[in-house]
Amino acid sequence: MKKKMLCLLLACGLPVLAGCDQNSGSEQATDEIVSATQDVFAMDTYMTVTAYGEAAEEAVSAAITEIERLNALLTATDNTGEVYAVNQNGGGTLSEDGMYLLERSLEFYGSTEGAFNVAIFPIMAAWGFIDDHFGVPTEEELNGALELIDIGNISVDEEASSVTLKKEGMAIDFGGIAKGYTSSNVIRILETYGIENAVVNLGGNVQVLGTKPDGSFWRVGIINPFNPDTGIGVVEVADCAVITSGGYERYFVQDGVNYHHIIDPSTGYPANNGLVSVTIVSSDGTLADALSTSLFVMGVDNAISFLEKNSELFDAILITEDGEISVTEGLAENFTCEQSFSIIKTP
Ligand code: ADP
Ligand code: MG
Repeated sequence: MKKKMLCLLLACGLPVLAGCDQNSGSEQATDEIVSATQDVFAMDTYMTVTAYGEAAEEAVSAAITEIERLNALLTATDNTGEVYAVNQNGGGTLSEDGMYLLERSLEFYGSTEGAFNVAIFPIMAAWGFIDDHFGVPTEEELNGALELIDIGNISVDEEASSVTLKKEGMAIDFGGIAKGYTSSNVIRILETYGIENAVVNLGGNVQVLGTKPDGSFWRVGIINPFNPDTGIGVVEVADCAVITSGGYERYFVQDGVNYHHIIDPSTGYPANNGLVSVTIVSSDGTLADALSTSLFVMGVDNAISFLEKNSELFDAILITEDGEISVTEGLAENFTCEQSFSIIKTP
């Protein structure tokens, strides 16, 4: 599986170009700033939390505990939590985290006109992304799976904090949103320990708290989708999430064709709408994760009109299959890249 290999490389590499000389444990830097770093494998990827400040070690431990809690709770594939149980039983109660994610997912379904579909699980299964038995499904299999992703068949009872999946075989998949939610939660936890400078790297999805301890912006590398072991640019940020969806992250090849894990719910096929990488930069990690997946599905034209309508919520970096890079106005000054890029003007 490509993804794990890639993330190994990233664990101390590309996404955050500062602080990657950190190892597990805490240390007293020469300038007296205490820092701590810890790695964990969760949500099918390598994650690293680094914090600076007096309580760094305790804060990072609490962050890792939170990652492990959410990993167990939100997985659709391991029998450890509520999402798995809901999928097995056609419904059930959800925790505050589960309800929040479901409700936001349903909102994103509306705002992205169906590009973000939290019921995508049966399609993921049909392509073999759930059990790693990859293969192009037959038309019959795909049509059967498409019948199971109708969001209208998800009914939520807010008061009872429960969900019902009305059709047998339906299943929830938080894979497109859970990591962004996790990084947001981790940042909140670090803050409760008085941490003001931190970086959370969830397999290439990065969220930063404050600036680097020296006051300069964090430098987050954007992977080159045409050569994922290398970078294509760097974005300098403070206090926000930088989350990328790319077809290179998880895929299989059959008969010379590359099939990746971001599905266009209107066809049931891997999205093939001209974009090869979408990065969303936002203070809301959950939104950044959901929209990186969604804009990838929408394709360049629809993504740009979505950006124009929602520019107050986030910035973006889009890379097309022709290698063209577009960056929203709000990010242009903070993005550096060896090749030229165009600027998406937003109102
Ligand atoms: P990654 O998690 O690999 O960084 P994404 O955030 O784009 O990348 O999430 C991809 C995951 O999202 C898939 O593995 C699947 O679980 C889920 N997914 C795929 N297509 C969609 C879709 N159209 N809407 C919502 N979730 C999706
Ligand atoms: Mg996503």
